[in-house]
Amino acid sequence: MFLDRDGVLNDLEYDEEEGRVGSPLSARELKVFPYAGEAVRRIKALGFLAIVVSNQPGVAKRQFSLEELDRMNTKVRSALASRGGKLDAEYYCLHHPEARVKKYRLDCDCRKPKPGLLLRAAKEQGVDLASSYLVGDALVDVKAGRAAGCTTILLGHAGSFLSELIDREGAAPDHMLPSLKQVPDLIVRLESAPSVPPSGRRRLSRSQ
Ligand SMILES: [Mg+2]
Ligand SMILES: [Zn+2]
Repeated sequence: MFLDRDGVLNDLEYDEEEGRVGSPLSARELKVFPYAGEAVRRIKALGFLAIVVSNQPGVAKRQFSLEELDRMNTKVRSALASRGGKLDAEYYCLHHPEARVKKYRLDCDCRKPKPGLLLRAAKEQGVDLASSYLVGDALVDVKAGRAAGCTTILLGHAGSFLSELIDREGAAPDHMLPSLKQVPDLIVRLESAPSVPPSGRRRLSRSQ
């Protein structure tokens, strides 16, 4: 199972200066959702690998240092592990096409909505994409998951605005849930479904 980080494992922050909700910019302000560790533990107990796939252009944009990104990832990793939800692997895209740091200024293949990060993770971790899930809180996650051939789960609340956006972007998720907390139950339900779904994309099986 592929998991986006911000908005899935940890909360988003409200940036007063930019007037928008976005990724946390420091380990101190990063808050792991209290239910995340238990959810990851249950996902793993169902036989899935838990793999983070996350765009993290903050270093490229000089919003924080590579060390701070490391501290943030360590905080997420430890919080999950302390509840039995040890991550199996983590993949981050550090690039951005308009990066201020030249080294990361790249129109790469791994920045979601492109599927590069998932494809690499699948190859390295021996994951069958067609029987895997992608859980994200943004349409770029859904797009990457669809492009990689995974079953997609979008976290959030469906409203008319989001529905319109999903239509316009052609990024309909296979499932929609309020948060990661509900994901294990959905997987259990899908797994115990009596009939075989018509599409291979929706077929549930183990990540390995
Ligand atoms: Mg996110
Ligand atoms: Zn990249």
